[in-house]
Amino acid sequence: MVAQIIDGKLFSRKLRDQVAEHVNALKKENNVTPGLAVVLVGEDPASQVYVRSKGKQTIEAGMNSYEHRLSENTSEEDLLELVNRLNDDNEVHGILVQLPLPEHINEDAVINAIDPVKDVDGFHISNVGLLATGQNSMVPCTPLGCLLMLKDLHGSLSGMDAVIIGRSNIVGKPMAQLLLSESCTVTITHSKTKNLEEMVGRADIIIAAVGRPEMVKGDWIKPGATLIDVGINRVEGNDGGKRLVGDAEFSSCSEIAGAITPVPGGVGPMTIACLLVNTLVACCRKHKLAEPYIIPN
Ligand code: NDP
Repeated sequence: MVAQIIDGKLFSRKLRDQVAEHVNALKKENNVTPGLAVVLVGEDPASQVYVRSKGKQTIEAGMNSYEHRLSENTSEEDLLELVNRLNDDNEVHGILVQLPLPEHINEDAVINAIDPVKDVDGFHISNVGLLATGQNSMVPCTPLGCLLMLKDLHGSLSGMDAVIIGRSNIVGKPMAQLLLSESCTVTITHSKTKNLEEMVGRADIIIAAVGRPEMVKGDWIKPGATLIDVGINRVEGNDGGKRLVGDAEFSSCSEIAGAITPVPGGVGPMTIACLLVNTLVACCRKHKLAEPYIIPN
């Protein structure tokens, strides 16, 4: 079998177009423009690329983008003061503090200082609790993007066996909550899991979020399974330059899977598109307007 390639670039384009349409309507009918504030502390090159891209796509969707770039040695107190100001700012509907933060800053303290209604990353402890108890929350962007692609592909996920490789707060755990809400039977695996290959081999849906280049091989997976590869790993290419690969070996997995996300061009573009969705949702909630029907039920 040659797997269907799930085109995250195309899907995210459609999602961003949908967001832009809603933003346009909000401006015309309600005189409201959603605004996203992104805070970057330090000079981490990967974070700078992400922040640039988030700002560009926010503006393309017709929203206001506010960038706050702070130096590496900014104190936790100063960062918290900025977060509090953004919490009070009526023009700002979403706040994202780019992670990782420098070591001298307590990430949890900063994330939990964000107003949960503006927490478009969905990492605030209140949103984590709301998601876990099946209540209206802000859903972390990467798992939300994975879910949207899965639902687009399969419609109902009810009764499917899902195996998630990785248990981080950013991807693995919220992904498990989302799939559980869709009535999947969910197994979360991690570095201490025994018989990982055997577990992966039983799955209808595999979410690989490990951070280990090409770890999942084609002969691990059940023929026809759907493989969502979250991993972004920079490895040396044949020409000595760098290339991006996922956590699954694309060449062998795409021979066996029913559907697979490529890296790049799979989950990656969906993450920013879902950030825009969350900002729009946050704006509608703030102004007590109907939430856009973007996230399929
Ligand atoms: P973390 O490092 O926080 O978590 C990795 C998880 O993988 C941990 O739970 C770890 O287990 C588990 N793990 C490590 N080695 C193994 C192993 N040999 N077998 C089974 N499980 C293992 O990573 P993230 O969740 O933040 O990210 C995962 C990947 O996804 C990375 O490549 C990252 O770059 C990418 N990513 C991509 C995004 C996108 O937009 N596409 C967004 C976020 C992340 P344990 O807990 O036991 O240590």
